[in-house]
Amino acid sequence: MKAVVYEGPRTVAVKDVPDPRIEHPQDVLVRITTTNICGSDLHMYDGRTDMETGRILGHENLGEVVEAGKGVDKVRAGDMVCLPFNISCGYCANCEHGLTAFCLRTNPDPNMVGAAYGFAGMGPYEGGQAEMLRVPFGDFNCLVLPENARDRDRQRDYVMLADIFPTGWHATQLACVQPGDSVVIYGAGPVGQMAALSATIKNASKIMVVDYHQDRLELAAKIGAIPIDASKESVADRVMEETNGVGADRGCECVGYQAHDASGQEHPEMTVNSLVQTVKFAGTIGVVGVFVPKDPGSPDRLYKEGKVAFDHGGFWTKGQTMATGQCNVKDYNRALLNLIVEDKARPSYVVSHELPLNRAPEGYEHFDKRERGWTKVIMHPDL
Ligand code: NAD
Ligand code: ZN
Repeated sequence: MKAVVYEGPRTVAVKDVPDPRIEHPQDVLVRITTTNICGSDLHMYDGRTDMETGRILGHENLGEVVEAGKGVDKVRAGDMVCLPFNISCGYCANCEHGLTAFCLRTNPDPNMVGAAYGFAGMGPYEGGQAEMLRVPFGDFNCLVLPENARDRDRQRDYVMLADIFPTGWHATQLACVQPGDSVVIYGAGPVGQMAALSATIKNASKIMVVDYHQDRLELAAKIGAIPIDASKESVADRVMEETNGVGADRGCECVGYQAHDASGQEHPEMTVNSLVQTVKFAGTIGVVGVFVPKDPGSPDRLYKEGKVAFDHGGFWTKGQTMATGQCNVKDYNRALLNLIVEDKARPSYVVSHELPLNRAPEGYEHFDKRERGWTKVIMHPDL
């Protein structure tokens, strides 16, 4: 089959690789029809992780079940399914509590928990930027979709259930966003967009989105957010002005360790510290941006293996609460699916490019540069 494989920093190629097969009675094989490039793929693409060359990328996947192992009884061949990016067993102590990002069984590294498709450090599982994907614990890890998911247009919304819509929702859950709250969101990439969309669904009274990219800010403005261009104005001053000098009730971090200033210089601590500054006293902050990968390019910097110069004094003084981590996609999946089905949420508004799989190298290159207009790339192996 054809698949997008990692070949080294800023190089991916579409190659012929062996087809996946059922390896365990609970496995399911899915013929992928829609698969996305995520900001998280860029950590690997940029060479910031220890991703092995030759591995298949892709953790935002949707397709049709073609075969189910003998131990699978809910999911059937022919079902259209979206695959939460977390690979979880469904019955360990963490999965039992809905903490599927922290599954105790699916990551073979004794120092890690949780697994994902096509991800450095998240287990040996191949990704779904390919014609076919093996899904472990198929009954648990497939979200069965309505019949209209065969329609490619509908897949544009449903595929966002694999990661970015639940992750944006998670940011607002971690930040405890309630109706009437003001919310400041750092990052207008796909995840920040989904946090803004989630805040609108939760009836936040004011949603401010911070970024440098005009096109991404315009997109956030389209769903009712106030765009704040950090290259043109002081974010802190603007948030204070918008909140009568109090600060935002809630804050969401949707950038991660690649946070940079207006000149492009990276400061991994920048957004968390800016949140401490712009969220009110006793306010709450949700951090979904990733802070884990190493920074092989700058071994002397403080930022190593996720350590950043956090303004703990400011955070303490303001008595804020911060929660963080990977999204437990399954926890939100069905509710968010219902919102799409009932036409209460259209996450596909972020999609800027729809490409056949063999144009993946181009998709990665443009999305990685955050080029104007390249907000979210989705690919179809069957195009
Ligand atoms: P992205 O890189 O496309 O978007 C990040 C945006 O942040 C960009 O538009 C960039 O211009 C902006 N930005 C950079 N520095 C900034 C700053 N100082 N202030 C404000 N904005 C700034 O990526 P994405 O797909 O939107 O993902 C965002 C983050 O979320 C990544 O770290 C990704 O790995 C992470 N993520 C986490 C989870 C999870 O489960 N927690 C899931 C998916 C993605
Ligand atoms: Zn993703």
